[in-house]
This record gives sequence, C-alpha cells and structure tokens, in this order.
Amino acid sequence: MFPSMLSRSGCLRVTRVLQSYLDGEVDDTTSAIVAQHLEECRRCGLEASTYRTIKAAITQAGHDAAPVDQDAVARLRSFAHHLAEPRG
Ligand SMILES: [Zn+2]
Repeated sequence: MFPSMLSRSGCLRVTRVLQSYLDGEVDDTTSAIVAQHLEECRRCGLEASTYRTIKAAITQAGHDAAPVDQDAVARLRSFAHHLAEPRG
C-alpha cells in the first residue's frame, strides 16, 4: 500500500468523494481507498457514518413523505389556482 497517500492529505480527498462513495458512484479503486481510509481515520469514519445516517433518514422520509408531498402539491395547486384567477 501507499501509506503516504492515505495519510492526512487523504482526508480532503476522501471527504470530497465520500457522498459519491456512499452512493456507490465511485470506481473500485477509489472505493477501496476510501474504505481503507475510513477504517484508519476516525474523523472521516465519523463523517461517513453521519452521512449514512442522514442519507438513511432522507431515504426513509422520501418513502414516508409521499402523502405529505401530495398534500403540498394540492396546496400549491390551489395557490396557483388563486393566482390564476382574475380578481375584481
Ligand atoms: Zn481522514
């Protein structure tokens, strides 16, 4: 391995690709580097788990929020309708 590449300077690199990594959008090499860095670096590991938690919350909210979204859409529609209505 290349410890120098994965040391402190790696943090910036890792944080930059962290979201893509968690989305599974990085190539195998990057994925391996990030995974190893997260094992070795507590700070980035913590950040990764924070992202994971947020992502999980968003994903869950996305599913649960479907009825709420419809309500919001209905309100927007009625608001748009009011705007479209000629007044006076
Ligand atoms: Zn780090």
